[in-house]
Amino acid sequence: MSQLLQFAVFGHPIAHSQSPRIHQAFAQQLGIALDYRAIDAAPDVFAQTVRHFFQHEQGRGANVTLPHKAAAFALADERTQAATRAGTANVLTRLADGRLSAHNTDGDALVRDLTERHDLDLRGHDALLLGAGGAARAVAWSLCEAGVQTLTIVNRSPEAADALADAIGQPARVHTRYWEDLASIGSFDLIVNATSAGTLGQALSLPMSLAGSRAACYDLAYGKSAFAFLAWARAAGARYAYDGLGMLVEQAADAFELWHGRRPDTEPVYQSLLLQVA
Ligand code: NDP
Repeated sequence: MSQLLQFAVFGHPIAHSQSPRIHQAFAQQLGIALDYRAIDAAPDVFAQTVRHFFQHEQGRGANVTLPHKAAAFALADERTQAATRAGTANVLTRLADGRLSAHNTDGDALVRDLTERHDLDLRGHDALLLGAGGAARAVAWSLCEAGVQTLTIVNRSPEAADALADAIGQPARVHTRYWEDLASIGSFDLIVNATSAGTLGQALSLPMSLAGSRAACYDLAYGKSAFAFLAWARAAGARYAYDGLGMLVEQAADAFELWHGRRPDTEPVYQSLLLQVA
């Protein structure tokens, strides 16, 4: 086994992952030597593969992506508030005593991408969140903390949206509507697509009336998976339409900082990925 610090991203499938490239670029920027690989683990072997990585392969930290974020949360020995709120983890860190800590950086990464890279002030915005899966659960809390005025959560399965709104517990500000009612709920300043429809190659049917003239529309998916939603946003007259590539780079930077104690400059890495991810 190499003496380099060992890091990995676990997913299934994982061949498409940009995480090894992003972490190597951060490491090069800051002069840190590390090994970061993509590990494909099917759900039935995920927990044992992760444990082996941390116990026998000198693993120091891991990112976790679909479909393992809930399993990563479950197997950890301790969990941050962000992970607990989401019920999922995208970062696992080996603590000095060998225990595993679970964290979720997705929500903060989205807000940083919106407010710092895209220069949006979310305060006072009426926001619509489509989806109530693991990523949406992380994002909803962070949007509230960033100061949105209202947050309307709409999910194909309404129970998951209700459970998320109940967990946040701010009924005057955060509420749910049925997917079937999207055409009659007016327009929003911020529309975040946190469904996996684009990634799964499925079409979302969204009314044009949702996007106000100053609306910013954001798809957590990126590249080809975001094309359909961003095309809808532009056709609906939204002022801004962004995909989730910036969020991907920001969540990686959060993990990197957690593991190495130094924050990389995300912009050059984002710019280089922009040229290649489509
Ligand atoms: P989950 O599987 O946990 O949740 C999927 C969500 O999408 C559920 O709310 C589900 O609704 C909804 N959904 C799926 N298909 C459809 C459809 N055809 N129509 C309407 N709703 C649908 O996935 P995640 O939350 O982990 O991920 C969601 C997306 O966010 C993925 O595309 C993922 O790649 C992306 N992502 C991007 C990140 C980034 O850094 N850019 C970070 C994290 C996620 P239901 O409950 O009814 O099944």
